[in-house]
Amino acid sequence: MALNLFNTLSRSIEEFIPLDPAGKKVGMYCCGPTVHDFAHIGNFRTFVFVDLVRRYLEFKGFEVTHVMNITDIEDKIIKRVQANKVPLREFTQKYEDVFIEDLGALNCLPPHRTPRATEHIPEIIALIEKLVARGIAYKANDGSVYFSIDKYQGCGCKYGQLINLNFEGMRAGERVSSDEYEKESIADFALWKARVPEDGEIFWPSPWGEGRPGWHIECSAMSMKWLGPSFDLHLGGEDLMFPHHEDEIAQSEGAGVQPDAKPFVKHWMHGAHLLVEGKKMSKSFGNYFTLRDLLAKGFSGREIRYLLMSSHYREQFNFTLEGLTGARNALARIDECLAKLRGTAAGATAAPDAELLEKISDALDHDLNISGAWGVIFEWVREANRLLAGNQLSAERAAAGLAAWEKINGILGFSTVVEAEIPAALSALLEERQVARKAKDFKRSDAIRDELKAKGWVIEDTPKGARLKKL
Ligand code: AMP
Ligand code: ZN
Repeated sequence: MALNLFNTLSRSIEEFIPLDPAGKKVGMYCCGPTVHDFAHIGNFRTFVFVDLVRRYLEFKGFEVTHVMNITDIEDKIIKRVQANKVPLREFTQKYEDVFIEDLGALNCLPPHRTPRATEHIPEIIALIEKLVARGIAYKANDGSVYFSIDKYQGCGCKYGQLINLNFEGMRAGERVSSDEYEKESIADFALWKARVPEDGEIFWPSPWGEGRPGWHIECSAMSMKWLGPSFDLHLGGEDLMFPHHEDEIAQSEGAGVQPDAKPFVKHWMHGAHLLVEGKKMSKSFGNYFTLRDLLAKGFSGREIRYLLMSSHYREQFNFTLEGLTGARNALARIDECLAKLRGTAAGATAAPDAELLEKISDALDHDLNISGAWGVIFEWVREANRLLAGNQLSAERAAAGLAAWEKINGILGFSTVVEAEIPAALSALLEERQVARKAKDFKRSDAIRDELKAKGWVIEDTPKGARLKKL
């Protein structure tokens, strides 16, 4: 069946047809992290959603090129760098590394390219120059370069493609230099920000003087550099729809670089927010958990991934720790059934159960109906358990189920979560702690726990004994 996905641009579910005349290659860009801090699991809900899209496209036979940028220059980063008095790269590299590590813990496939904004300054400048040459961007008295929404609209382009904007009463023609300007304002936005004393040593030369790029132009330049001026799929969280993505369209289409009046992006997808008690999980509200917070509580990347993937990507849902316990139980049910199937299959091989796979893709073809897919999986588990209990499942049928699960798992990404390898010296410390505990030497056992924690590992007491988990 054809793959149908909601397109924010048309506000409707459409068949996904790539621009590639052969219908095979797909260029996909998702806005990556702003590397100024640890990402929270709200952020990761979006990246797990992006991973599901990529995996499902690959399952459908598309050849995906997945690009995710690293926003390593932006208002908040500059403030933090100045406050911490460290060089920009040293500061951002730390959070970039942590982010990539966290993506791995959630078993998200690494993007094919992760361009950094600071390494694309020439492309950014070249794009701004095109906009200036076309009269759509202008240098203001403060030395910054702004995008003129009026001039852009004057060229017959539409500002307000992703959301309907009510232009009446809006502050068109005003200027904003902030990257995250007030929503619903259509003030001209900054493409190039002139150097100010607060920027310290963070600036680049440009035809308009020293300064740095705005956030929105970074994504236009990097996506078009790596995927071409017109590409298939652009993703992000719903908060990026406006102004960030609207501005990306305006800058990219305003530069007039697309051949044959093709759009900058054919298909836009936005993931809904993860909430906490009805409010968006966010750093500014302080209602967040980082991935590491949850790993330290003893949950695994796999369980967190399951929870983040349990609802439809266009539905908001509330995060709770109870939800994670539910995720643990659901995965345990699947794992238990798989273990029994392995026992029954006893090494037999078979082609994947085609009916099961078809039901899964029927659900996912319909705008990634993940609840439908989970319904199919748990129905399959129930039926397999019933047959296994009655000794009514042949080795071949068990093997066919397992082979189908392999494919399903390629889409959902659960079984290959690899626990970090534990260095021998740390295993020895854990052993020593067990001995100390047995001898009721709690001072020593607590000291070992603290030592392990300082090295980035926590002790998890499980029914099968104590084990180490990476923080
Ligand atoms: P940032 O690092 O702030 O640029 O955000 C990275 C990604 O996380 C963006 O795609 C955001 O839309 C997304 N995001 C931020 N908060 C949430 C949330 N509570 N739920 C889902 N996605 C989020
Ligand atoms: Zn972006």
